[in-house]
Amino acid sequence: MAAVAAGAGVGLQLIGAAAATLLAAVLVAVVLGRRRRLVARAPLVEGKPAPEDGCAVGDGEGAAGDGGTDVIIVGAGVAGSALAYTLGKDGRRVHVIERDLTEPDRIVGELLQPGGYLKLIELGLEDCVEEIDAQRVLGYALFKDGRNTKLAYPLEKFHSDVAGRSFHNGRFIQRMRQKAASLPNVQLEQGTVTSLLEETGTVKGVQYKTKSGEELKAFAPLTIVDVPSCFVGLVLENCQLPHPNHGHVILANPSPILFYPISSTEVRCLVDVPGQKVPSIASGEMANYLKTVVAPQIPPEIYDSFIAAIDKGSIRTMPNRSMPAAPHPTPGALLMGDAFNMRHPLTGGGMTVALSDIVVLRNLLKPLRNLHDASSLSKYLESFYTLRKPVASTINTLAGALYKVFSASPDQARNEMRQACFDYLSLGGVFSNGPIALLSGLNPRPLSLVAHFFAVAIYGVGRLMLPLPSPKRMWIGARLISGACGIILPIIKAEGVRQMFFPATVPAYYRAAPAAEYCVIALVGELSKPTPDATSGKMERLFTWIAWKSSREC
Ligand SMILES: Cc1cc2nc3c(=O)[nH]c(=O)nc-3n(C[C@H](O)[C@H](O)[C@H](O)COP(=O)(O)OP(=O)(O)OC[C@H]3O[C@@H](n4cnc5c(N)ncnc54)[C@H](O)[C@@H]3O)c2cc1C
Repeated sequence: MAAVAAGAGVGLQLIGAAAATLLAAVLVAVVLGRRRRLVARAPLVEGKPAPEDGCAVGDGEGAAGDGGTDVIIVGAGVAGSALAYTLGKDGRRVHVIERDLTEPDRIVGELLQPGGYLKLIELGLEDCVEEIDAQRVLGYALFKDGRNTKLAYPLEKFHSDVAGRSFHNGRFIQRMRQKAASLPNVQLEQGTVTSLLEETGTVKGVQYKTKSGEELKAFAPLTIVDVPSCFVGLVLENCQLPHPNHGHVILANPSPILFYPISSTEVRCLVDVPGQKVPSIASGEMANYLKTVVAPQIPPEIYDSFIAAIDKGSIRTMPNRSMPAAPHPTPGALLMGDAFNMRHPLTGGGMTVALSDIVVLRNLLKPLRNLHDASSLSKYLESFYTLRKPVASTINTLAGALYKVFSASPDQARNEMRQACFDYLSLGGVFSNGPIALLSGLNPRPLSLVAHFFAVAIYGVGRLMLPLPSPKRMWIGARLISGACGIILPIIKAEGVRQMFFPATVPAYYRAAPAAEYCVIALVGELSKPTPDATSGKMERLFTWIAWKSSREC
C-alpha cells in the first residue's frame, strides 16, 4: 500500500482525473453562507422544539448556533447513516450528503460480526437488520485439504438475540438511511463530489454538486492507496452450505475463499485473487479461472451451485485495500469509516470497526452543548484516535495477519504456519474461543491477539520438533518464527504500538471536553467505486482528507 499526501502539483493534476476516477472522497463542510440554502429542517428533536442558539445534546437542551446545521456528514453508507442517526438522536442537527440515495448493489459489507451487532444495539439501530431477510450467523467453518473444523462464536454470555448477521448490504444501508431520515433534525440530501480544489500550492479540498446542480466547496489533502488483492463475488442460489448459519472459509490455493448466506435463498461467494490484476471477466478468463483453479477446491456440497453461478455470468470484482488510520486532526472536520481506516475484508470487520468508532465519537460529543469552536473541538477530538485504537487495531491487525497466514506460499515455513493455524483452531476450547472472540469483535483485545498469534507460531514449531528434531526442521522452525514476526510486527507498527497496547500513556487519552461552544463536521465513508486508472491500469483510490473549517464559518 502506498499513501501519498497530495501536494499542490499533485492536486492540480488529479483534479481532472478525480472527476472520472474519484473512488473515495469524504467531505465535510459547513459554510455559513450556504447554510440557509440547505433544505430546511424541522426544528424538533424527538418531539421537543430544538433551541435556536445551539445544538441540543443529551436532554435536548442547546442547539446549533444561528439556526444552522451542527454536523455535515458526507456519504450515507454504513458509517454515515449510523452516525447521522446517532448524532440526530442526540439532538444534533445533521445534514447528510450522499452521492446516490438509491439502494446500493454491492458485494461489500454483507456479514456483520456479533461485536458489530452489539454496537448496533448500543446505537439503537438493531432493528435495521430486521425485515431484510438477514441470516443469523453463529460462527465459522474452516476448510483445508478436505478436512473441516467448526468454530462457534462464544455467545454463551450474551442474550440469545446476539449473533452475527449476514444480509444484502444495500438493504441494510437503506434501512439505516430511512431510520436516520425519520428523525426530524436529520436531513438526507443527494450530492456528489466532482473535483479537487487547490489552494496555495496544496490540494485542500473538493467541489461537489447537489442533486439540483448547485456547486459546493470543501477543503482537503489527498491520499492514494494501491490495491493488494481483489475479491471476486458470485451469488449461489438455492444451495445449502455444509454448515448452516456459519461463514465458510476455504484455505485454498493461492488464497482464501469465503461463503456465507446473504438471504434465505442466496449464498455469497468471495474468491480472493492476489495481485492487482484479475483475470478479465469480459473475455471469459475469469470464468475459466473460477472453474479450473477455484472450483476443484470448494466443498463438493456446493460445487454444482458454484458452477451454475459462474455460468449465470453475474461475476463482480472489488479491490481489497488496507489503510491504517492516520490521525489527521483538522479543525471542523473528522474522517470516519473506510475513508479513514480500512483492513482486508477477509474477517468481515469493517462495519464492526465503523460502528465501534461511532460509539466512541458519540460518547465524546455527548457532554458538548454546542460545536462552534472548530480548533478547540479538533484538539479535544484527538482523543478519538486513541480511544478507538484497542478495538480497531485488534480487528485490523487480525485481518491483515490472518490473510497472510491463510494464503498459500511457496515458502515451506509459511505453509507450516498455515497448517499450524488450522490445527490450533481445531483444538477447540480456548484455542478456538480466543481467536474467534477476537474475530467476532466480542472481545477485541490487542494482547490476546498477540498471545494467540505467537501461540500458533510456537505450536507450529513444536509440531516440527516432534517426534525428533532435525537440523532441517529446526531451520524451518526458526524461519516460521521469523516469518510470523515478519507478518504481525509491521502491521502492529503501522497501527501504533503505544496507542494499541498502552493507550492510557497517550496524553490525548485524557483530553477534557472544552467548555467553549463548538462546531464539528464529520466526514464519513468511502468514495466512489474503484475505476481503473487510465494510464497505469492500476486500481487506485482517492481519499480525501477533510476539510478545514474555521469557527467563523460555523
Ligand atoms: C469485498 C469486500 C467485502 C467486505 N465484506 C465485509 C463484511 O462482510 N463485513 C464487514 O463488516 N465489512 C466488510 N467489508 C468492509 C465494509 O464494506 C466497509 O468497512 C464499510 O462498508 C465501510 O462503511 P463506510 O460507510 O465507510 O463506506 P460505504 O459503506 O462504502 O459508504 C460510503 C458512502 O459514501 C458515498 N459517497 C462516495 N463518494 C461520495 C461523494 N463524492 N459524495 C457524496 N457521497 C459519496 C457512497 O455512495 C456511499 O454511500 C468489505 C469490504 C470489501 C472491499
